[in-house]
Amino acid sequence: MVNCEESTCTNIQSAICLHCLRRLCSMHILVHEKIISKETNELYEQIDEVAEQLNVSLQHIHTAYEESRQKLNTWRQDHIDKIKQKHTEQYQKDNLTKLEDELTQRLIKEQQDSTQLELNGNKIDESSVIQMNSSQQQYTNSQLLATNRAISSPSNQTISTTSPLSRTPIKRPIMFSSKKIVKYFKNISGSDDQNLEDYIVKDLHSLSHVNNIMLVFLSLFDAWHSRNLSTVYNDQSLSYHIKNLKKYIKQQEHQLTVIAAIQVFINNCKYSDSQSNTMFTNLFQFFLTNECITKETIIDWYKNGDYYGYEGFQKAKLWAQSFFKDLIDNPL
Ligand SMILES: [Zn+2]
Ligand SMILES: [Zn+2]
Repeated sequence: MVNCEESTCTNIQSAICLHCLRRLCSMHILVHEKIISKETNELYEQIDEVAEQLNVSLQHIHTAYEESRQKLNTWRQDHIDKIKQKHTEQYQKDNLTKLEDELTQRLIKEQQDSTQLELNGNKIDESSVIQMNSSQQQYTNSQLLATNRAISSPSNQTISTTSPLSRTPIKRPIMFSSKKIVKYFKNISGSDDQNLEDYIVKDLHSLSHVNNIMLVFLSLFDAWHSRNLSTVYNDQSLSYHIKNLKKYIKQQEHQLTVIAAIQVFINNCKYSDSQSNTMFTNLFQFFLTNECITKETIIDWYKNGDYYGYEGFQKAKLWAQSFFKDLIDNPL
């Protein structure tokens, strides 16, 4: 007979614990069972606690994941929206540029057509004298045309027939620039020089030379200075392009058109008298120095500029006054 494995117990073994294989007496096996049972309960509680903690952690992970996913989605949508907006803007800009080009071409075409109409009108004028005499018509086509002409270009009405000049004022003067040429003028790397030349020679050939010069120089001034940046003057584009443009200014009439372009451009800027005066002085000085306009032409314009029919002459004369005075006082 073997004794109970509990120390100091002298009872005989009567049971084996199936968990730890200890051999104990009937009394100690009961004590042992109680201890085991208590420990088991404690373990269960610990398991529950750990399970609870795991649950909470899992919940946190879920929440964090969900938040990140939403943030990522928002970020993704934001970027898609930005790209779409950028694309729409660029698309509209491209379309606008195209539309602007088309409109410029149309204006040029209409300019050409109206000049043609003018010429035809003059022909009818001559023949209508006979018509009037023979049939006593009260209102001939030519009269209608003449009336329309007077309405559409009121500046022609004020012209005195005793003008000191033999030149005729510009009929239907062009007063706009071309976005395309402005773009070419802003480039001083030389890479657009051929495009510019081609455009002037091919696309503008239908215009009278004077209107051609007007369009080109108004575009040059737009490249030089924009009302959006009223203190910025891009002098480089002026000095770069003038050497190529000089060849288009062949006669005094062309010089006068360049001055008229200065007048129209500064008038359109609608700046203070002081800023307009500075711009006038700088541009006059620039063209004089580059021998595009002569002192004589400036004097001619100053005295007779109203005659050419471009708007804003009286104001322009005021802005040019200080330059003109210096010019007269200091013979070149
Ligand atoms: Zn046991
Ligand atoms: Zn025992």
